[in-house]
Amino acid sequence: MFKHLTGFAYNPSHVFHKNTVNQNHPENENRIKLSLNRIRQIQADKYVADYTDPSVHNEQLDFSLTDYILQEIHDDGYLQTLKKLEKMSQTEIDDLCRSFDSIAMTPESFKVAHEAAAYCVTLTKKVAEGELKNAFALVRPPGHHAHDDCPQGFCVLNNVAICSQLAIEKKYAKKVLIVDFDIHHGNGTQQFFYDDERVTYLSIHRYEHGNFWPHKRYSDYDCIGRGTGRGHNINIPINENGGTHHDYLCILFTIVIPFARELQPDMVFISAGFDACIGDPIGYMDVIPEIFPHYIYQLAPMCNGKIVAILEGGYNHSAVAVCVDMCLRVMIGEKPPYFKYNKVPRASTVISCMNAIGALREYWPYVNSFYDLAPYVAAGHQSVLPIFHDHFGISTTHTGNINQNNLRNLLNSHTPQIIKLPTTKLFNINMEFPMFNVKNIPVDPHANQYEDLFSVSSKLQLKNYGKN
Ligand SMILES: [Zn+2]
Repeated sequence: MFKHLTGFAYNPSHVFHKNTVNQNHPENENRIKLSLNRIRQIQADKYVADYTDPSVHNEQLDFSLTDYILQEIHDDGYLQTLKKLEKMSQTEIDDLCRSFDSIAMTPESFKVAHEAAAYCVTLTKKVAEGELKNAFALVRPPGHHAHDDCPQGFCVLNNVAICSQLAIEKKYAKKVLIVDFDIHHGNGTQQFFYDDERVTYLSIHRYEHGNFWPHKRYSDYDCIGRGTGRGHNINIPINENGGTHHDYLCILFTIVIPFARELQPDMVFISAGFDACIGDPIGYMDVIPEIFPHYIYQLAPMCNGKIVAILEGGYNHSAVAVCVDMCLRVMIGEKPPYFKYNKVPRASTVISCMNAIGALREYWPYVNSFYDLAPYVAAGHQSVLPIFHDHFGISTTHTGNINQNNLRNLLNSHTPQIIKLPTTKLFNINMEFPMFNVKNIPVDPHANQYEDLFSVSSKLQLKNYGKN
């Protein structure tokens, strides 16, 4: 019988976190609601272990572990401020929020964010301990802009940073990779691990030489980490708006896969923001949703499948639902969708990739560029844009000028398809555990691939940990 190995949860309290100043703000409860409807329509709920109601799995959310890690990540003063929200009036909270960048909260916001973090922590623990193969946390508020001492950009607690810290501290992983494909630079996440070689942060974000929010110089390709963390911060800035899946495929194959393969992370966290998707009212990009599951599919073999995806941005709610659908079904085991690859990536994307490799190659000797000495030789690219842009004088002009006929309802072109039984072999042990030398383990061709390989994988990991 099929064994549920993909974990899932959303935080039911999310409806109490809202923007009361701008009631039409797109970071609202419909982001979760539409996705949940979609999950039911495609019957993905049959194939996931749903931890949303802790009583189903006969256990409580691990708030004590969450609080322990929370204190490692966020400043005590900041946490105290958040805890005071529940006793404050909405007017007082609105005043407080004005001192932050792009933040709205309610008296319940800390409770909601705390619960979101606890779901992420619980799923991370299950994946790390081998009880789950992988997991998707459909939570809000998002987290990747949250800093140690302040909220930012709709984010309150940095879920991905909390889970990455948990993985390192509890020795679930020696090496963690965070892949952040939200359209915005996860500046909060970068800040936490900038000096830490144990957590490699890889962000793909719209940058436009600093003209896109959060307008930070440190989001550029040459900000590669500091101290022992040097080389472990990978920024891929997209410097022209209107990027498509051709750009994202270029980044996947020239950056994400080579770096992940060389790193060999024990766990991968995905800051799964879907605001790069076509039709997003904030991201203004032209990326089709089919690209995102390919990231998960390609990363799975690099980390023995141990992937935890956590929702970040995404503000066209129907588009988010389609993206969540596509990512979840790949995590369950379907092959990612086919799509047409009929254009070359834009020169500016190629240059960003080459520049990043040029800045990082000293630390990653096996990541190669088709330019010998990127970024210098990249200047020979025939439609070259300024590589060493003058970063001073970054303006805050809004640069989104894409024709918003793309602001469409993706549900029309992506009708729900009932999920099929897994067809891929993300856990093909002959392919994916070469370091454990398991080629001689006989594989019963009739055995359920997941149950069988899951047990092999657990045994191998026990054996491996036993050696250390
Ligand atoms: Zn975003």
